[in-house]
Amino acid sequence: MLFDSHAHINHDGYSDDERRDLIETIERSDVGYVIDVGFDMKSSAQAVSHAAEHARIYAAVGVHPHEADKIDDDDLARLADLARAPKVVAIGEIGLDYYRNLSPKDDQQYWFRRQIRLGLERKLPILIHDRDSEGDAVRILTEEGAFSSERRAVFEKNPVTGYESAGVLLHCFSGTAEQALEYIKLGATISIAGPVTYKKNIKTAMVAEQIPLSHLLIETDAPYLAPEPFRGKPNTSPLVYHTAKKIAELRGVDVSEIEAATCANAKRFFGIE
Ligand SMILES: [Zn+2]
Repeated sequence: MLFDSHAHINHDGYSDDERRDLIETIERSDVGYVIDVGFDMKSSAQAVSHAAEHARIYAAVGVHPHEADKIDDDDLARLADLARAPKVVAIGEIGLDYYRNLSPKDDQQYWFRRQIRLGLERKLPILIHDRDSEGDAVRILTEEGAFSSERRAVFEKNPVTGYESAGVLLHCFSGTAEQALEYIKLGATISIAGPVTYKKNIKTAMVAEQIPLSHLLIETDAPYLAPEPFRGKPNTSPLVYHTAKKIAELRGVDVSEIEAATCANAKRFFGIE
């Protein structure tokens, strides 16, 4: 069974019919679990209702750094309310994006901090979008206590597996293997998306090869970033299989092993039975 740890069924590019077809496709596939991830207020509310209506869908609520100049205290209070709904398993996606810089850096950092605090208060995992933040994301996470021993105590429940987790997921990880290992030491978990299948992406291939399997999740970030051989087309959760397959090739194991491990990891990470 596959677990897509990050998708946007709530994307506003879908018509209602397209979204219904998409969900039916997921329900007929090997994808047993999808996290529908909020990126603004509307998409967060939509993720919550998709999760309420469909067994395989779970929700994350949060505001993306691109939207950081559009939210206020009332929105944060509304997010906190949404986070109480059943099947909301994380706060996200939140973070910093200095590559596109669609919101001023100050706003990005301010709302990143406030949403980290919400995740800490509610003892929920947080889903991090970090693009070219030049160390600011890890600095802010550390300053806010996202890797503190109190935070780790919330998630490190299993003495048998010795799972080290602060409930911090680096979504669509695009750093180096060295950076990934540093993050894992702090208590983060790494999620790899379709770009690992792109021929020239040696950097992410090395991440997929070198990190411990215990801290690896897979995702589509659908409708973006379709894996090969579907690159450039709209992405959907069932295509996460191609990411699993590529990781299996890189690690020299059977794809079933990657499917089983990433599914079990994601269930443990999000606290899904
Ligand atoms: Zn996303």
